[in-house]
Amino acid sequence: MSRITLGILGGGQLGSMLASAAKKLNIKTIIYCDDQDAPAKNFCDEFIHAKYNDKSEIYAFAKKVDLITYEFENIPFVTLNELNKLKSVSPKPSINRLIQHRLAEKDFINKLNIRTTRYVHVTDKKDLEPLGDFLPGILKTTTMGYDGKGQYPIKDVDEISSLNIDFTKEYILEKLVKLKKEISVIITRFGINKYEIYEPIENTHEEQILKHSKIPANISTNLFNQSKEWSIQIAEELKYIGTLCVEFFIDRNENLYVNEIAPRVHNSGHLTINAYNVSQFENHVRAICSLEQISLKKVSNAEMVNIIGNQIIPYRNKIKLNHNQFLFDYLKKDIKEKRKMGHLTTLK
Ligand code: ADP
Ligand code: MG
Repeated sequence: MSRITLGILGGGQLGSMLASAAKKLNIKTIIYCDDQDAPAKNFCDEFIHAKYNDKSEIYAFAKKVDLITYEFENIPFVTLNELNKLKSVSPKPSINRLIQHRLAEKDFINKLNIRTTRYVHVTDKKDLEPLGDFLPGILKTTTMGYDGKGQYPIKDVDEISSLNIDFTKEYILEKLVKLKKEISVIITRFGINKYEIYEPIENTHEEQILKHSKIPANISTNLFNQSKEWSIQIAEELKYIGTLCVEFFIDRNENLYVNEIAPRVHNSGHLTINAYNVSQFENHVRAICSLEQISLKKVSNAEMVNIIGNQIIPYRNKIKLNHNQFLFDYLKKDIKEKRKMGHLTTLK
């Protein structure tokens, strides 16, 4: 068989790690990204710098590849849909459209009888005033949010008048959950009832950005099983192909909620590179390219810490690591505050 060429939309660190996994499987990668300095440039075989709505560039990209995936969800639906007419796009554009919209996503999850936070659609400031019942809460843009961007925490009704909210956008207001813990489950679905699932990962956020992830998660057997069951149910219902992440909240009464779904590989799964025989990235490539499904085995417990902003400097100055530590520098050109610059995984 001739060598497969995989097209990846998006050139961030997830794109880099997908390209590295593909390389290991002898698959060629072409990354398409609107940022000329995208870090994945350093890891792929070919790099195309163009806008996501540039029709002629998108068409040229499709001609060069055998199949297409993407590393972040905020790609215009029309682009994914046009591409899907030319070459197979996985996950399917319709899945991305559903999940990239917080309201549609939560409606979908609730229809499966899976618990989410309480939420309500908000399109205008005056919608907010009678919603005291949802406060304290977080107002979130329905689309384009990530790492806490586009979110306004609201404590009480009095605070509403002082908020400066851009109502050219739509929102959902979510009731704040009294969090005990956050976990995530990563699953790679290959076909009907064919999947590989990683054990739940315990996550800690700082300023709404993921900081630490670890396995095993310190949770009850009940929550361990329930989170996996719900993740399988979601992946099956979506007829998903590839790697998917489900983020969960656990409240102080041990109730489990789905927070959100990421139709892609996920930051909390970076530890799978070192802690499992097959990483979330390799599994994604295997599933979308119809390669062999290998049974997952955990090699070690692990902890991952995100290196944010100028925390990368000592690592770039060659800080000494232990034999059980693995550093990933995303090779981003500019160091910016709150920007994920790399991660460090420690096997336990
Ligand atoms: P993003 O798309 O930016 O990842 P999330 O909805 O996952 O947005 O929110 C980011 C983080 O903010 C969550 O992981 C959690 O720590 C906190 N958070 C968000 N919504 C709630 C909520 N309803 N109750 C409690 N914490 C929340
Ligand atoms: Mg999130």
